[in-house]
Amino acid sequence: MVFTHDTELALQAAVTLVNSAEDPDTLTTQAELDEVWDEFQYSGRRDRTQAELDGVRALRPRLRALLTADRDGAVTLVNELLSEAQAVPQLVRHDTFDWHIHAIETSEPLDRRIAVETAMAMIDVIRADEMSRLAGCADDTCQGVVLDLSRNRSKRFCSTTCGNRNAVAAYRARQR
Ligand SMILES: [Zn+2]
Ligand SMILES: [Zn+2]
Repeated sequence: MVFTHDTELALQAAVTLVNSAEDPDTLTTQAELDEVWDEFQYSGRRDRTQAELDGVRALRPRLRALLTADRDGAVTLVNELLSEAQAVPQLVRHDTFDWHIHAIETSEPLDRRIAVETAMAMIDVIRADEMSRLAGCADDTCQGVVLDLSRNRSKRFCSTTCGNRNAVAAYRARQR
């Protein structure tokens, strides 16, 4: 594990949300938001309204800017997000999760919680000087973000779709 569990989960969630904005957009319905919710084991307030979905969708460009910033740029964005939300870090333990940090009340809207969670996770990335764990997808035609938490830093593509497409292209190139 490169970072703590809660940090890795928050980073994975942020990358998933950012990449969902790639064409075709895969965050357009409550069911699609449910999938993200379940996959990343969110807890707390869930409105299931269009406003909530719109809020999360609208957050994606900001998350993208944060995940793709250089280290100093990321610091500015993290500090902005945290002061905007008046974040107060607290250690909490709930459900099956051992002690970890929440910096915003679980009664706050989902998009605000995701914004703060991502900012808190980026604190770890910045302090550990591990920004290189985040990169653009190696596929020339893809704007997706890659989070590489592997020991040997071998992850290059944002999805298996991109990985397979490039494997096929490389195979064809070798056959020529
Ligand atoms: Zn929690
Ligand atoms: Zn990709």
